[in-house]
This record gives sequence, structure tokens and C-alpha cells, in this order.
Amino acid sequence: MKIKMVDLKSQYFKIKAEVDAGIQEVINNTQFIKGPQIKVFEENLAQYLNVKHVIACANGTDALQIAMMALDLKPGDEIILPVFTYVATAEVIALLGLTPVMIDVEPDTFCIDVNLIESKITSKTKAIVPVHLFGQCANMNEIMSIANKHHLFVIEDTAQALGASFELAQDDNSVKRKAGTIGTIGTTSFFPSKNLGCYGDGGALMTNDDELAKKIRMICNHGQSVQYVHDVIGVNSRLDSIQAAILNVKLPHLNSYETARNEAANWYDELLGNHPNIIIPKRNLQSTHVFHQYTITLRQAEGDRNWRDEIRKQLADRNIPSMIYYPIELHKQKAFEKFNTNNDHFPVSEMLCNTVLSLPIHTEMNREMVAYICNNLLEIINNTTN
Ligand SMILES: *Cc1c(COP(=O)(O)O)cnc(C)c1O
Repeated sequence: MKIKMVDLKSQYFKIKAEVDAGIQEVINNTQFIKGPQIKVFEENLAQYLNVKHVIACANGTDALQIAMMALDLKPGDEIILPVFTYVATAEVIALLGLTPVMIDVEPDTFCIDVNLIESKITSKTKAIVPVHLFGQCANMNEIMSIANKHHLFVIEDTAQALGASFELAQDDNSVKRKAGTIGTIGTTSFFPSKNLGCYGDGGALMTNDDELAKKIRMICNHGQSVQYVHDVIGVNSRLDSIQAAILNVKLPHLNSYETARNEAANWYDELLGNHPNIIIPKRNLQSTHVFHQYTITLRQAEGDRNWRDEIRKQLADRNIPSMIYYPIELHKQKAFEKFNTNNDHFPVSEMLCNTVLSLPIHTEMNREMVAYICNNLLEIINNTTN
């Protein structure tokens, strides 16, 4: 059996006629930039997320940068983020001259440890950037209450969790809200392998704030209010019409994609959940999980990273790919060491970088594939465990 980390080709063949027609329509009317497909997509996604405004942009990294520009964050402002995340989250903070303040994560959900946030808040702190890592929401109840108490903005990095819902506490009740629509601004990515992926780069911002939405739209388009009138410093960050046409075809499938990913995750849980060396990903009861990644932790790898490499090599020999998301925490990356001024340690993230293993998960998986992966993984682990 040949297993892929993601299988975009099989997914495409199921929607080929609609996708091809959508792309052809853009080519026929040649409105490659700012075509009508973009407004349609923004409205469709806003309706799906139940949020007032969606503003499309060129990619998920730009979305984060534009969010911070729209909030008027200034050099020297401190921005709180998890130390265990994709580099994009931290990169834009540093790029804007802001100061990233890193926080360790929870060992079982991989998301920012909310109990560690308040001790890092200073008079310079302006925002928290929770990352809904691997497809499950960070603890937004705690994050929103800390943010409200200290008057901080919240930018939700929803690149991996588009479609996930969170039970947000409200008075004595709770309301279900989509990831990215709870904080001040949400950002997401349509990178091809993301849960809602286009066929190139793409991204978007979400907000319920009318003024912010206007400003974000301006920043995406060179700070322009009326053509050739520039009110603020902006960037050129737009979603191509062709990508919007593809996303318009794929968005109606997002819920069934999520179901397929959850099915695969449930099979993994069932087949791997009882092995003493494997910790399966924890489900946070307040959040649904959209399983952008299915990431286990291998206990034995904690003191022996080479053992994990050996497992991966033997998996690869049996045509089973795997990935390490992420092998190095931010504070140990050369580009970011200088921001760890206190020489802080992040024991949980350090442990995770040594022990995580992401297994193939995508919308086209069936039980036979998951069983093949699990049987081989268990056999390899048992053969290499002393
Ligand atoms: C993918 C990703 C981004 C960046 O998105 P791009 O579209 O690749 O720029 C940002 N944050 C996280 C957590 C991501 O996974």
C-alpha cells in the first residue's frame, strides 16, 4: 500500500468538473485580480463562520501581519504567543519590530498553557496570539478572560483549525463559536494542505468589528481608501480570483472533509490508544477537533530522539510517511534566540519537540490505510523497544 501524508489529487478528482469550470470562468473574463469570485468567497466564508467580515488576502502569514498592522501595534509592544508553533506566528511579530513573548504549551493539547500567561504580562503587553494547533482550539474562555482583564487584543491564528467550533462561556450559558471569530481578529491560511486549501497561496482575516474590517481591507490594498488615495501604510496582499473560484467550490465540502478527518482520527485512537509507549492526542471537550494533523507522542523518544528517527526510517521503508511538527521550539531557533532574554526554559515544548510524531491524515483516508499504518507502527515500535 502506498500512503501519502496528504492526498490532494484524489480529492481534486471528486470535484474536478466544478473546479475546472471555475478556473476557466476566471480565464474567460480575465479579471485575475479583484474578480467577482473574491467577494462571493468572502461572503460565503463569513456566513459559514457566522462572522460579520471576512477579508481575503495573499496567505496566512500576511493575514497575521495585517492583523497586527490594523491594531496599530508599535515597535516595543509585547505580543504573547506559544513557543511551540509554526514560525509564521512569531515571524511577523519580529518583522514589525514588536517583541514576541513566548509561553510554554500544554503537554496533551499542544496549545498555549493559559496558566502561564498572566505572569508574562507587563505594561508593554498589547496582544495575545493563541494558535489553534493541529486543528483544536486553545482554551479561549481563559484567554478571553485574561485579555479582557488586562485590555489586550486577541489575534487567533486559525491557519490549522478553520471550521473548528468552541463552546464559549457566556454569563451562565455557553455559545458555540467558530475558531477565528472569538478574539479581536482571526487569521487563516488556504495553503494547499490546510483543511480548506486552494491551489496556491491564500489567506483571510475575520472580525466582527466594522472599523477594523475597513482598515484591514485598506491595508491589504496599499492602504488605499479611494483609488490612488492612501490613508495608511499598507501592503499588497490579495487573494487571486482563480484561488477564490477554487475555494468557492471547496467551501461547501469543508464539513464533510472535517468528518472524514475525524473518522480517520477515531480509527487511529482505537488502534493506537492502548499502547504503553504511545500517547494519542487529547480531545479538549470545549472544542471540536478538525484534525489538521494527527499527532501522537512517543514516550520512549523523550530521552532518545534517535529512536524516533529510527521509527520514522522504518516507517518510510514501508512506504509510510510521517512528519515532525515541530522539531525545534522558537526560542532555540537562531532567528529568535535573542528574544528569549531571560534564558527561559520551556520544558513541555522541549519534551514535545523530542517526542511528537504526526501521522498521515487527510480527507481521502479509509480504514484499511489507517490499519496498515497502525499495524506497521506498532510492529516497528515493539521490535525496537528494549
Ligand atoms: C500555515 C500556517 C501559517 C501560515 O500560513 P501561510 O499561508 O503558509 O502563510 C501560520 N500559522 C500557522 C499555525 C500555520 O500552520
